[in-house]
Amino acid sequence: MYNSFYEGLKVLERRDTPLEADERIKAAAKPLLLWYGKNRRILPWREENTPYRVWVSEIMLQQTRVEAVKPYFSRFMEELPDIRALACVEEERLLKLWEGLGYYTRARNLKKAAKILTDKYDGEMPASYKDILSLPGIGSYTAGAVASIAFGIPEPAVDGNVLRVMTRIFADSEDITRPAVKKKYEGLLRTALLDISSAGPETSEILQKQFPVHTLPGNYNQAWIELGALICIPSGRPLCEECPLESLCLSKKEGRQEEFPVRAPKKPRRIEEKTVFVIEWKDRVAIRKRSARGLLASLYEFPNAEGHVEKKEAATVLKLAEEDIEDITVLPDSVHVFSHVEWHMTGYRVRLRNGCPENYKMVKKEEISSKYPVPSAFGVYTNALM
Ligand code: SF4
Repeated sequence: MYNSFYEGLKVLERRDTPLEADERIKAAAKPLLLWYGKNRRILPWREENTPYRVWVSEIMLQQTRVEAVKPYFSRFMEELPDIRALACVEEERLLKLWEGLGYYTRARNLKKAAKILTDKYDGEMPASYKDILSLPGIGSYTAGAVASIAFGIPEPAVDGNVLRVMTRIFADSEDITRPAVKKKYEGLLRTALLDISSAGPETSEILQKQFPVHTLPGNYNQAWIELGALICIPSGRPLCEECPLESLCLSKKEGRQEEFPVRAPKKPRRIEEKTVFVIEWKDRVAIRKRSARGLLASLYEFPNAEGHVEKKEAATVLKLAEEDIEDITVLPDSVHVFSHVEWHMTGYRVRLRNGCPENYKMVKKEEISSKYPVPSAFGVYTNALM
């Protein structure tokens, strides 16, 4: 399928001067889109790509794998089918729907933005890259994805997948965490998008067989993302022999694919030790609300203390009298990794004898799964209730 195109490309590469960056990106468009048309995954948010569905799916997909997002997306769409429903949902219910996806600020920003869209844009997403970009929680990647996929606006959507592919195609040793690197590739792709959006008759004819012209920008962006997710994969060897851009890729040509992308070393994460108490009385368990600021803000948690508390010290730490406690048993240790911090947790089940002390909120155990958002960081201790 790609033969005639690649022949042309080889001629280009045989010139004395190598391809300019914009020529290389332009040359990638056709084989990339043809590959995408044949190999793209069927995903719930792709098949019905309204602005709302594209937006919510893109926010969910940040830091989260496609397979993990699917059930969350379906549940979310069923309960909050449009922007107005999202704007009105109670925060606690929203966080419950988000529970397990992590990075809860994303959910709060969705609601904030939905409120703005309801008040200012009659409950619709505006068909303008600039207006979309101005909404809370939306950066250049998400704005580009929504604008291009939902409205056919020729704006790039450069995420980690695309950056990885780009740095490999150009054998680019710059640190991809630098905003200037992302900006550079956004610029290149924006030019290419304008180019394919005004494609000549030959390009249009080939591509229109797969994508109508008005959806080209969205499909073009998704094709880069998909190539990064399926072929130019992050860890391990990229699958260059299956890549439609093999002939264009400088790192492949030099046999250096695995050297890219280059990323400045991250600061080591801070380790925090904690002891988690699952305090039970009859069919109830103690929880408390976290502070409205900071990590896991306003979510619920089991009472816990800094450091690893000895079993014999548990009653004192919990400010309970020995006679109030039926028994204390050890629960499994657990580690939860956040972006900048790791919680190393030990845990105890504390069964009470004489009712619950006033300083704890005692809720029915089944409400932990049905009502109160308890982050997955406490998953081991939530499971201890089953
Ligand atoms: S040839 Fe290999 S390294 Fe280059 S873009 Fe394709 S998969 Fe990535």
